[in-house]
Amino acid sequence: MDKENLGKELSLDPENWNQLRMLGHKMLDDMFEYLQTVRERPAWQPMPNEVRSHFKTPLPVEPQGAEQAYQEFQQYILNYPLGNIHPRHWAWVLGSGTPFGMLAEMLSGAMNSSLFGADHAPILVEEQVIEWSKAMLYYDTEASGVLVTGGSMANLIGLTVARNSKAGFDIASRGLQKLPTSLTLYCSTETHNSIRKAVELLGIGSESMRLIPVDRDFRIRIDALQKAISEDKASGYQPFCIVGNAGTVNTGAFDDLQSLAEISRSEDLWFHVDGAFGAFTALSTKLKHLSSGMEKADSLAFDLHKWMFMQYEVGCVLVRNADKHHQTFDTNVAYLKRFNRGIASGSKWFSEYGIELSRSFRALKVWLSIKEHGIDKYRMLVEQNVDQARYLAALIAASPNLELLAPVASNIVCFRFITRDLDNERLNDLNAEIIMRLHESGVAVPSATTLNGKFAIRIAITNHRSCREDFNILAQAVIETGRRLINF
Ligand SMILES: *Cc1c(COP(=O)(O)O)cnc(C)c1O
Repeated sequence: MDKENLGKELSLDPENWNQLRMLGHKMLDDMFEYLQTVRERPAWQPMPNEVRSHFKTPLPVEPQGAEQAYQEFQQYILNYPLGNIHPRHWAWVLGSGTPFGMLAEMLSGAMNSSLFGADHAPILVEEQVIEWSKAMLYYDTEASGVLVTGGSMANLIGLTVARNSKAGFDIASRGLQKLPTSLTLYCSTETHNSIRKAVELLGIGSESMRLIPVDRDFRIRIDALQKAISEDKASGYQPFCIVGNAGTVNTGAFDDLQSLAEISRSEDLWFHVDGAFGAFTALSTKLKHLSSGMEKADSLAFDLHKWMFMQYEVGCVLVRNADKHHQTFDTNVAYLKRFNRGIASGSKWFSEYGIELSRSFRALKVWLSIKEHGIDKYRMLVEQNVDQARYLAALIAASPNLELLAPVASNIVCFRFITRDLDNERLNDLNAEIIMRLHESGVAVPSATTLNGKFAIRIAITNHRSCREDFNILAQAVIETGRRLINF
């Protein structure tokens, strides 16, 4: 190194801390303003071409500086979000986040701890969040768990433990190819596609995923399930797992989890529950019956970024048998050696309970938020969203132009605009057009699904900002848009 550069080694810390601090304070003020005024903006807006082309610029070689980068964020990114923080955003199943959650992300960003293992306070935070999750969901206190990016990863981990535990031989070293017969898994036709992804990733193959039909309430048909299992057994297949739904993605239906738990036990199958959003009905004594039996699952997947309103990303999987969970992911290597003392002495190495090694400190926002509000507030919000779904269903029932397309079991409402003179195919097109117009107008953001051949406008309420009035606005907008389109 040249003499004049001594003591001037490079770093990514600011040259002028005060300048960045001032920018940081401005960013914080701007973001509070942004959150406080969310209701005044459209729930979504299309991006102009100028915005799209801004993201086609070449790789920056020379610095532009933090101020300039932030200015571009404001101009080209901030105003074109997915929009799920908005009170009238009810597409797919999206969480809305909180202002304190935003601050929590800043705190964990400052610490920038990686949560693979070792002895440090963030590990204790994650352990506590997992304990609290068990308490919220009435799950076995001896269970193990790990925070993950979301429900998809939680389902994958649960099903990996299921496969390894129920294969009946050492699948981890010998591999699925050495299995004399095919493993089969059972779930309803309404099951989320992350289960299919997991089944495919695990080498089981989606052909071995038995999609059991549902009843009129979109719940798995227990008789059809039992028949499928006994037929498979008679044909020499090896049934290994039943997946139950605590809240289906299409209609918010809950499978009869008590019966699924019983069948799993009597047939010696692993019982996995996908409770991505619906698990949190367990918080409410009024709604707890929906997920009854969930606590008997061998593994339970759920999201904290949906109906617990935490900032993305955070999901969790719990596994009743902690040893089986650990055995599935524990691979001893020299570079992760434990010591009796010092930083590598921690007992809990989360990397041995999942797929990822480096992991973010996602536990912090959960821990801080639950402390901020207390769990009773979350219970009330879950109940409020379910009440809003019922309220919307009542608005639909009251209008001759609206038709409910599925029973409202929890927080999802599927409906459509109807008029006497149109057949089903024309109604499908009309309702798709209504959805697109709602999006483009920014009034509200529903998503869509198809139920029994009927195209549905789908409203999934995992939003702590929605008010009753928002559902009046939605119903009104659907009716007005539909009427305008048919009179056209
Ligand atoms: C959202 C969802 C998933 C997937 O969870 P991600 O957090 O998006 O990965 C799985 N199952 C159901 C029922 C869901 O609603």
